[in-house]
Amino acid sequence: MHWRTRILHAQAAQSNDFHALATPVYRGSTVAFERVADIADDWRQKDGAYSYGLYGSPTVLELGARIAEMEGAYHSFIVPSGQAAISLVYLALCKAGDHGLVPISAYGPNRALAADLLKGFGVEVDLYDPGIGAGIANLIRPNTRLIWTESPGSATMEVQDIPAIVAAAKARDVLMALDNTYAAGVLFDAFAHGVDISIQALTKYVGGHSDLLLGSISVANSALYERIGTVRSQLGLSVSPDEASLALRGLQTLGMRLERLERSTLEIATWLSTRPEIAAVFHPALPSCPGHELWKRDFTGSASVFSILFSDDIPTEQVTSFVDALRLFQKGWSWGGTTALAMVYPEFKRSDADYSGRLVRLNVGLEEPTDLIADLERALTT
Ligand SMILES: *Cc1c(COP(=O)(O)O)cnc(C)c1O
Repeated sequence: MHWRTRILHAQAAQSNDFHALATPVYRGSTVAFERVADIADDWRQKDGAYSYGLYGSPTVLELGARIAEMEGAYHSFIVPSGQAAISLVYLALCKAGDHGLVPISAYGPNRALAADLLKGFGVEVDLYDPGIGAGIANLIRPNTRLIWTESPGSATMEVQDIPAIVAAAKARDVLMALDNTYAAGVLFDAFAHGVDISIQALTKYVGGHSDLLLGSISVANSALYERIGTVRSQLGLSVSPDEASLALRGLQTLGMRLERLERSTLEIATWLSTRPEIAAVFHPALPSCPGHELWKRDFTGSASVFSILFSDDIPTEQVTSFVDALRLFQKGWSWGGTTALAMVYPEFKRSDADYSGRLVRLNVGLEEPTDLIADLERALTT
């Protein structure tokens, strides 16, 4: 054979018996079958019988299996981002004429998807007050298919009464999904509390280093596995093994990072709560956070993201200058990595409150908390 052919059909190969502790990065679209009888095209890839890279390489499936093990799920799907996890749950479970519910405190792009794309598809999604608890029963209609929860909520950090919402949903046979990103899938046990679907932005704590985007959808049973898996393959949502490999590495230090982040964050949030400029600190472990009692009852810990509300006698320009004056806290979206972040919300209105320009979300990193406090103190007094 010509070398050009031999290069493509080489006989040389290394043995696979390299028992490294890390899962290899398996790249591949096509997977080769031994014989015609072995040819399969099934996204389930049952019993290690791989059929196509789109359905998950061993690296990606390993990540899913580990997330499922951590969360106590029937199965965990890995998707390209946290937002992809949210959109896939909607698209798999809602069709034209269906109704859904999402808390007003939910991650913004979740609400944006509901108000735009889903509305165009004939799916109607209503917003509800995250503090509604058992009162959610009054919002459930005969065509309600899906109730979203997110606890604590984005930016305003309301902790939800998940058991009460689960009970109301189960009584009416409605599926209930939780965005469990804050808890990294571990600080709140979604499945022990009866949730049907728990999603995470792995981008945050599992990735943990602000260098990847991934999401997970963990399901409680085989019926949800079938529905979500089928629609995922129809949509062609695939994940790179490199991203999955980084997330597998992130998992190795998740326990240690969460422990340290919890301690540093509590120290900083407690310090901020003594400052005269700050009207409220929305951190689930502090009594000033809406739903703090529920957090104490249901969670095993707190994480690194929380918000501060400047008192209303402070002009919004002063809040902007405070954020601009921060040096260690970088200004940027997302959170859960190793560095401290700050984000101000110029427009932030709720039916009962206007926090525009006064709400600042902080993410604490792995810096020494004394240095972060010094940074905050300097920025508050400049
Ligand atoms: C960041 C975030 C998401 C989206 O994750 P991406 O991977 O950035 O798409 C979803 N839910 C919550 C609560 C988040 O904070």
